[in-house]
Amino acid sequence: MAAAVLGADSSATLVKGWEARASRHGSDVPVYIVRHGSLAESDLVFVPPGERCIFVSDAVIDELPDLFLEGEIGMEVDPERYLALILLHEVGHIQLGHESGSFNDPDPFDSLLNLHETDQKDREIAADRFAVDQILAASKRDYSSGGMEALNLQLSISSISFNITGFLRVTNFGSSSTYSPKLYWDDGYSHPNFALRILVMQALLDGSEDSRAIVQDFIESRERRPYQRFHGTIASLDELAQVAGLVGHEVTRISSTQVELTYGPTGETALVEVMDQDEQRAVREAAEFLGIEYDE
Ligand SMILES: [Zn+2]
Repeated sequence: MAAAVLGADSSATLVKGWEARASRHGSDVPVYIVRHGSLAESDLVFVPPGERCIFVSDAVIDELPDLFLEGEIGMEVDPERYLALILLHEVGHIQLGHESGSFNDPDPFDSLLNLHETDQKDREIAADRFAVDQILAASKRDYSSGGMEALNLQLSISSISFNITGFLRVTNFGSSSTYSPKLYWDDGYSHPNFALRILVMQALLDGSEDSRAIVQDFIESRERRPYQRFHGTIASLDELAQVAGLVGHEVTRISSTQVELTYGPTGETALVEVMDQDEQRAVREAAEFLGIEYDE
Protein backbone atom coordinates (compact mmCIF):
# COMPACT_ATOMS: atom_id res chain seq x y z
CA MET A 1 0.00 0.00 0.00
CA ALA A 2 2.74 2.43 0.97
CA ALA A 3 4.70 1.39 -2.13
CA ALA A 4 1.68 2.15 -4.32
CA VAL A 5 1.28 5.60 -2.76
CA LEU A 6 4.92 6.41 -3.43
CA GLY A 7 4.28 5.53 -7.08
CA ALA A 8 6.40 4.12 -9.86
CA ASP A 9 8.47 7.19 -10.63
CA SER A 10 9.28 7.99 -7.01
CA SER A 11 12.90 8.38 -5.97
CA ALA A 12 12.16 5.93 -3.17
CA THR A 13 10.79 2.46 -3.89
CA LEU A 14 9.81 0.16 -1.06
CA VAL A 15 10.93 -3.41 -1.78
CA LYS A 16 10.59 -6.59 0.26
CA GLY A 17 13.97 -7.16 1.88
CA TRP A 18 13.38 -10.90 2.11
CA GLU A 19 12.87 -11.36 -1.64
CA ALA A 20 15.84 -11.72 -3.90
CA ARG A 21 15.87 -9.19 -6.74
CA ALA A 22 17.78 -9.50 -9.94
CA SER A 23 19.23 -6.07 -9.43
CA ARG A 24 18.92 -3.41 -6.80
CA HIS A 25 18.17 0.16 -7.79
CA GLY A 26 19.55 3.22 -6.10
CA SER A 27 16.03 4.21 -5.19
CA ASP A 28 15.28 0.91 -3.44
CA VAL A 29 14.36 1.03 0.22
CA PRO A 30 14.33 -2.59 1.43
CA VAL A 31 11.94 -3.40 4.26
CA TYR A 32 13.00 -6.17 6.64
CA ILE A 33 10.84 -8.00 9.15
CA VAL A 34 12.70 -8.68 12.39
CA ARG A 35 11.79 -10.76 15.42
CA HIS A 36 10.44 -8.53 18.15
CA GLY A 37 12.41 -10.40 20.82
CA SER A 38 15.62 -8.93 19.46
CA LEU A 39 14.41 -5.33 19.67
CA ALA A 40 13.83 -2.87 22.44
CA GLU A 41 10.23 -2.77 23.61
CA SER A 42 9.33 0.40 21.74
CA ASP A 43 11.18 -0.13 18.44
CA LEU A 44 8.37 -1.28 16.19
CA VAL A 45 9.43 0.36 12.96
CA PHE A 46 12.67 2.22 12.42
CA VAL A 47 15.43 3.27 10.05
CA PRO A 48 18.83 2.23 11.43
CA PRO A 49 21.28 5.17 11.67
CA GLY A 50 22.81 6.00 8.30
CA GLU A 51 21.03 3.16 6.47
CA ARG A 52 18.63 3.20 3.55
CA CYS A 53 16.30 0.48 4.75
CA ILE A 54 13.47 0.02 7.23
CA PHE A 55 13.20 -2.57 9.98
CA VAL A 56 9.70 -3.66 10.94
CA SER A 57 9.07 -5.73 14.05
CA ASP A 58 6.99 -8.87 13.53
CA ALA A 59 4.92 -7.71 16.52
CA VAL A 60 3.87 -4.52 14.78
CA ILE A 61 0.46 -5.64 13.55
CA ASP A 62 -0.60 -6.61 17.09
CA GLU A 63 0.69 -3.38 18.62
CA LEU A 64 -0.56 -0.83 16.13
CA PRO A 65 -4.25 -0.56 17.12
CA ASP A 66 -3.14 0.33 20.67
CA LEU A 67 -0.46 2.73 19.53
CA PHE A 68 -3.04 4.54 17.40
CA LEU A 69 -5.51 4.65 20.29
CA GLU A 70 -8.14 2.62 18.48
CA GLY A 71 -9.73 1.70 21.81
CA GLU A 72 -12.91 -0.19 22.60
CA ILE A 73 -15.29 2.30 21.08
CA GLY A 74 -13.10 3.39 18.21
CA MET A 75 -13.55 2.95 14.49
CA GLU A 76 -11.61 -0.07 13.34
CA VAL A 77 -8.74 0.61 10.97
CA ASP A 78 -7.03 -2.13 8.99
CA PRO A 79 -3.59 -2.54 10.70
CA GLU A 80 -2.07 -2.66 7.23
CA ARG A 81 -3.05 0.98 6.82
CA TYR A 82 -1.41 2.01 10.08
CA LEU A 83 1.72 0.30 8.84
CA ALA A 84 1.51 1.99 5.43
CA LEU A 85 1.31 5.37 7.14
CA ILE A 86 4.34 4.60 9.30
CA LEU A 87 6.34 3.34 6.31
CA LEU A 88 5.63 6.57 4.42
CA HIS A 89 6.84 8.50 7.48
CA GLU A 90 10.04 6.39 7.58
CA VAL A 91 10.67 6.92 3.86
CA GLY A 92 10.34 10.62 4.71
CA HIS A 93 13.26 10.31 7.15
CA ILE A 94 15.33 8.62 4.45
CA GLN A 95 14.43 11.06 1.66
CA LEU A 96 14.95 14.09 3.86
CA GLY A 97 18.39 12.83 4.85
CA HIS A 98 17.64 12.37 8.54
CA GLU A 99 20.21 10.27 10.29
CA SER A 100 17.78 7.70 11.60
CA GLY A 101 14.21 7.60 12.60
CA SER A 102 11.38 5.81 14.17
CA PHE A 103 7.72 6.60 14.19
CA ASN A 104 7.27 6.44 17.91
CA ASP A 105 9.97 5.51 20.37
CA PRO A 106 10.10 7.82 23.33
CA ASP A 107 13.46 7.38 25.03
CA PRO A 108 12.74 5.68 28.35
CA PHE A 109 15.28 7.92 30.04
CA ASP A 110 13.65 11.00 28.65
CA SER A 111 10.01 10.91 29.63
CA LEU A 112 9.43 14.38 31.04
CA LEU A 113 6.27 15.99 29.78
CA ASN A 114 7.19 19.21 28.03
CA LEU A 115 6.45 21.66 25.24
CA HIS A 116 10.02 22.35 24.18
CA GLU A 117 10.79 22.58 20.50
CA THR A 118 13.71 20.37 19.54
CA ASP A 119 15.44 19.57 16.23
CA GLN A 120 14.38 15.98 16.61
CA LYS A 121 10.73 16.93 16.96
CA ASP A 122 11.09 19.12 13.85
CA ARG A 123 12.40 16.11 11.93
CA GLU A 124 9.39 14.04 13.02
CA ILE A 125 7.03 16.76 11.83
CA ALA A 126 8.90 16.96 8.51
CA ALA A 127 8.61 13.17 8.04
CA ASP A 128 4.87 13.34 8.82
CA ARG A 129 4.55 16.13 6.28
CA PHE A 130 6.38 14.03 3.69
CA ALA A 131 3.89 11.19 4.25
CA VAL A 132 0.96 13.60 3.81
CA ASP A 133 2.47 15.06 0.62
CA GLN A 134 2.90 11.57 -0.86
CA ILE A 135 -0.72 10.71 -0.08
CA LEU A 136 -1.98 13.99 -1.58
CA ALA A 137 0.10 13.52 -4.73
CA ALA A 138 -1.04 9.90 -5.15
CA SER A 139 -4.68 10.81 -4.64
CA LYS A 140 -4.48 12.85 -7.85
CA ARG A 141 -3.27 9.84 -9.84
CA ASP A 142 -5.68 7.32 -11.31
CA TYR A 143 -7.03 4.41 -9.32
CA SER A 144 -4.68 1.79 -10.67
CA SER A 145 -1.46 3.68 -9.96
CA GLY A 146 -1.82 4.45 -6.28
CA GLY A 147 -4.89 6.70 -6.34
CA MET A 148 -7.08 4.05 -4.73
CA GLU A 149 -4.58 3.34 -1.94
CA ALA A 150 -4.15 7.06 -1.30
CA LEU A 151 -7.91 7.53 -0.89
CA ASN A 152 -8.06 4.53 1.45
CA LEU A 153 -5.25 5.98 3.54
CA GLN A 154 -7.00 9.34 3.69
CA LEU A 155 -10.11 7.63 5.00
CA SER A 156 -8.01 5.78 7.56
CA ILE A 157 -6.35 8.94 8.84
CA SER A 158 -9.77 10.48 9.16
CA SER A 159 -10.88 7.47 11.26
CA ILE A 160 -7.72 7.65 13.36
CA SER A 161 -8.26 11.30 14.06
CA PHE A 162 -11.90 10.58 14.95
CA ASN A 163 -10.68 7.90 17.38
CA ILE A 164 -8.18 10.29 18.90
CA THR A 165 -10.64 13.11 19.50
CA GLY A 166 -13.00 10.50 21.00
CA PHE A 167 -10.18 9.24 23.20
CA LEU A 168 -9.42 12.76 24.39
CA ARG A 169 -13.08 13.38 25.16
CA VAL A 170 -14.24 10.10 26.67
CA THR A 171 -11.34 8.14 28.16
CA ASN A 172 -10.10 11.19 30.00
CA PHE A 173 -13.39 12.76 30.72
CA GLY A 174 -13.02 16.30 31.96
CA SER A 175 -9.46 16.67 30.76
CA SER A 176 -10.47 19.33 28.28
CA SER A 177 -11.32 21.50 31.25
CA THR A 178 -8.21 20.49 33.18
CA TYR A 179 -5.73 20.63 30.28
CA SER A 180 -3.75 17.74 31.68
CA PRO A 181 -0.17 17.73 30.35
CA LYS A 182 -0.42 13.93 30.27
CA LEU A 183 -2.73 14.40 27.29
CA TYR A 184 -1.63 17.63 25.73
CA TRP A 185 2.11 17.91 26.19
CA ASP A 186 4.96 16.02 24.54
CA ASP A 187 6.18 12.87 26.20
CA GLY A 188 9.94 13.21 26.05
CA TYR A 189 12.08 15.36 23.79
CA SER A 190 12.29 13.22 20.67
CA HIS A 191 8.67 13.13 19.48
CA PRO A 192 5.90 15.72 19.43
CA ASN A 193 2.57 14.85 21.04
CA PHE A 194 1.19 11.87 19.16
CA ALA A 195 -2.45 12.96 19.08
CA LEU A 196 -1.44 16.39 17.78
CA ARG A 197 0.64 14.83 14.99
CA ILE A 198 -2.35 12.85 13.75
CA LEU A 199 -4.69 15.85 13.98
CA VAL A 200 -2.22 17.95 12.00
CA MET A 201 -1.95 15.27 9.31
CA GLN A 202 -5.73 15.15 9.08
CA ALA A 203 -5.92 18.95 8.75
CA LEU A 204 -3.26 18.96 6.01
CA LEU A 205 -5.09 16.21 4.15
CA ASP A 206 -8.63 17.53 4.16
CA GLY A 207 -7.85 21.23 4.53
CA SER A 208 -11.25 21.89 6.12
CA GLU A 209 -12.09 24.63 8.62
CA ASP A 210 -13.23 22.00 11.12
CA SER A 211 -9.97 20.07 11.13
CA ARG A 212 -7.98 23.28 11.47
CA ALA A 213 -10.16 24.37 14.38
CA ILE A 214 -9.53 21.05 16.16
CA VAL A 215 -5.76 21.53 15.80
CA GLN A 216 -5.99 25.13 16.99
CA ASP A 217 -8.03 24.05 19.99
CA PHE A 218 -5.51 21.37 20.86
CA ILE A 219 -2.61 23.84 20.64
CA GLU A 220 -4.42 26.33 22.87
CA SER A 221 -5.13 23.58 25.38
CA ARG A 222 -1.41 22.83 25.54
CA GLU A 223 -0.66 26.33 26.61
CA ARG A 224 -3.19 26.67 29.36
CA ARG A 225 -2.16 26.13 32.93
CA PRO A 226 -3.75 22.86 33.99
CA TYR A 227 -6.33 22.98 36.71
CA GLN A 228 -7.03 19.83 38.65
CA ARG A 229 -9.54 18.88 41.28
CA PHE A 230 -8.19 16.06 43.45
CA HIS A 231 -10.79 14.13 45.42
CA GLY A 232 -9.04 13.35 48.66
CA THR A 233 -6.90 15.04 51.26
CA ILE A 234 -3.28 16.02 50.79
CA ALA A 235 -1.54 15.86 54.13
CA SER A 236 2.10 16.37 53.24
CA LEU A 237 4.39 17.77 50.57
CA ASP A 238 5.27 14.21 49.57
CA GLU A 239 1.61 13.50 48.89
CA LEU A 240 1.29 16.75 46.96
CA ALA A 241 4.31 15.73 44.87
CA GLN A 242 2.52 12.51 43.89
CA VAL A 243 -0.73 14.25 42.94
CA ALA A 244 1.14 17.02 41.08
CA GLY A 245 3.18 14.42 39.21
CA LEU A 246 -0.02 13.01 37.72
CA VAL A 247 -0.64 16.25 35.90
CA GLY A 248 2.93 16.88 34.84
CA HIS A 249 4.13 19.17 37.62
CA GLU A 250 7.10 18.51 39.83
CA VAL A 251 7.30 19.29 43.50
CA THR A 252 10.79 18.92 44.93
CA ARG A 253 11.89 19.58 48.48
CA ILE A 254 15.06 21.67 48.32
CA SER A 255 15.59 21.97 52.05
CA SER A 256 13.52 21.75 55.21
CA THR A 257 12.26 25.26 54.52
CA GLN A 258 12.05 25.40 50.72
CA VAL A 259 10.08 23.56 48.06
CA GLU A 260 10.65 23.99 44.33
CA LEU A 261 7.72 23.80 41.92
CA THR A 262 8.24 23.04 38.23
CA TYR A 263 5.18 23.78 36.14
CA GLY A 264 3.76 25.18 32.95
CA PRO A 265 4.43 24.48 29.29
CA THR A 266 8.05 25.56 29.46
CA GLY A 267 8.88 24.08 32.83
CA GLU A 268 9.12 27.33 34.77
CA THR A 269 10.09 27.02 38.40
CA ALA A 270 9.00 28.74 41.59
CA LEU A 271 9.99 28.44 45.22
CA VAL A 272 7.60 28.08 48.14
CA GLU A 273 8.87 28.72 51.63
CA VAL A 274 7.87 26.37 54.40
CA MET A 275 7.12 28.83 57.19
CA ASP A 276 8.02 27.69 60.69
CA GLN A 277 8.02 24.09 59.52
CA ASP A 278 4.28 24.43 58.89
CA GLU A 279 4.02 21.81 56.16
CA GLN A 280 0.24 22.09 55.77
CA ARG A 281 0.57 25.74 54.93
CA ALA A 282 3.30 25.00 52.38
CA VAL A 283 1.08 22.31 50.85
CA ARG A 284 -1.78 24.81 50.59
CA GLU A 285 0.33 27.48 48.97
CA ALA A 286 2.06 25.13 46.54
CA ALA A 287 -1.22 23.47 45.54
CA GLU A 288 -2.86 26.81 44.96
CA PHE A 289 0.07 27.91 42.84
CA LEU A 290 -0.15 24.76 40.72
CA GLY A 291 -3.92 25.06 40.35
CA ILE A 292 -4.60 21.87 42.28
CA GLU A 293 -7.67 21.82 44.54
CA TYR A 294 -8.17 19.12 47.12
CA ASP A 295 -10.42 18.21 50.04
CA GLU A 296 -9.31 20.01 53.19
ZN1 LIG B 1 10.01 9.46 12.83
